[in-house]
Order: sequence, then C-alpha cells, then structure tokens
Amino acid sequence: MSTQDATDRHQQKMQKHKEKVDAAIERAQEERGVIIVLTGNGKGKSSSGFGTLIRTLGHGYKAGLVQFIKGTWDCGEAKILSQLDGLSHEVMGSGFTWETQSKEKDQQAFDQAWPKAKAMLSDPQLRTVMLDEITYMLSYKLLNFDDLKEALINRPPMQNVILTGRGAPTALRELADTVTDMKMEKHAFKAGVKAQPGIEW
Ligand code: ATP
Ligand code: MG
Repeated sequence: MSTQDATDRHQQKMQKHKEKVDAAIERAQEERGVIIVLTGNGKGKSSSGFGTLIRTLGHGYKAGLVQFIKGTWDCGEAKILSQLDGLSHEVMGSGFTWETQSKEKDQQAFDQAWPKAKAMLSDPQLRTVMLDEITYMLSYKLLNFDDLKEALINRPPMQNVILTGRGAPTALRELADTVTDMKMEKHAFKAGVKAQPGIEW
C-alpha cells in the first residue's frame, strides 16, 4: 500500500470514528447527577474518587467527603482536600478498623457518622459527595442497603455520589449509573514491597 493510500485509509477510519462519537454525544443529552460505584480488588478506587472531588472543586462547585474507615483518614488527598474551600469533610467517629472487633462500638460510630452523610446527600449545594469505603458498612451490616438506597434516590437531582470499597453488592451496582470494577492484575505489596505514603495513602 502506498503512503498516500495508508493516509487516506487512516483518515476514513478516523472520520467513521468521529461520526460514532458525535452521534453518542448527541444522544447523551440528559442532565442530572450520577451515582458512581468504584469497587473490586484492584488498587485505585479511593484515589479515583478523590481525584473526582478535586475535579468538582476545581470548577468552583462544593463537594462533600465522608470517610468510613479509620486509617484512610490520614491519606494525602484528605490533607490537601480539607484545606480547600468548598469541601465538607467528615470522618467516622471512633473509627471502624479491621481490629476493633466490637460490633457495638462500630455500630455506635456508624450511627454518629450516617446522619452527617445523609445531611450531605440532601444538600443541593454539594455537587459531588464521596462516601469512601461505604461498602464495608453494608457488608458488616452496620448500614441497611434500603437506608442507603432511600438517601441516594432522594438526593438533589444534580448531585453526584461516589461510593467506594470492595465487594459492592449487586443491588448497589444495579442502582448506580457508572460502575467500575477495579481488577487486580498485580500489587507491589503482594511481592513484599512495603506500603508507602504518597502511593498507598
Ligand atoms: P487507593 O486508595 O490506592 O486508590 P483502593 O481504594 O482501591 O486504593 P483499598 O481496598 O481501599 O484500595 O485499599 C487501601 C490500601 O490498600 C491502599 O493503600 C492500596 O494501595 C492498598 N491496596 C489496594 N489494593 C490492594 C491489593 N490488591 N493488594 C494489596 N494492597 C492493596
Ligand atoms: Mg479505598
């Protein structure tokens, strides 16, 4: 094939691709907030959510963040984000960890945090709300799915919600508009590399 033929074929291919993309953009005209679920065993769920909060704040919108697991409080993103105007930031009281092993204490901590999350989910000023590691509140039965669902479906129409954590239940995936299942192909920790600030938290 001559260089000219190759150039023409490339141009035709790109033109077809552009027509498809333009048609998809034309079809997507509905304006409303979305529910985004970031789940799976691979790395990148919370950091993606934090990046999206920065995106929201960068456009001058207000945002909310509730962190449900102790140990994620101290992450680099939360340190920066909480300095920014426009972010409402809550962390779950005495802190759920893998070590507490007291359902009662965890439930108390959750019961204090949940009304704060619900207040964010009913505040039309907040363009994006992130509920970091909320899936564990469901899997440890500290939160009923129906209560979460009610808060999500009654939220202000333009509000986006990001929910992170492994093992998102099917009902949550079905309710969501966007679901990303992070697949672990490799993780340095598994090869014995120590977790480091700036990468892991
Ligand atoms: P990140 O906060 O880096 O986006 P994540 O939110 O997807 O990660 P979590 O399940 O919340 O992951 O785990 C939090 C911590 O565990 C992070 O420090 C992350 O690097 C690490 N981690 C994530 N996935 C794995 C894995 N498959 N094996 C070992 N460690 C992991
Ligand atoms: Mg996480």
